[in-house]
Amino acid sequence: MNYMVYMKGAEDKQFGAMNLKEGTYGVGLVYATLIPDLERAKGYANTLAKDIRGATFQVRPAGKTNAVYEISVKPISPTQTLCKYCGQPNGSNDENVLCKECRECFGHSFYNEL
Ligand SMILES: [Zn+2]
Repeated sequence: MNYMVYMKGAEDKQFGAMNLKEGTYGVGLVYATLIPDLERAKGYANTLAKDIRGATFQVRPAGKTNAVYEISVKPISPTQTLCKYCGQPNGSNDENVLCKECRECFGHSFYNEL
């Protein structure tokens, strides 16, 4: 049986099938990568979950909508520090880095630039 890896980003409402070669998701099923082995598909999902924290990954049998495996890794790691401006996790271990919202809001990356 073939399997596909699906991804749902933290902000997404739905899962999208993944093209693992191109690193894209939400592709048409024709372009989704088929993986002939369940354990290998789980391995891809595990690796992706560690790389893209906060996103959820599922392994589904090709053509099916039910997941046989699901994993997501929490976005906050113990080494992560908090934004000095607003106290949200900043996605970095450098305490001078602003969180995503503050970076977008202020147009700066670092607290000492404010
Ligand atoms: Zn902030």
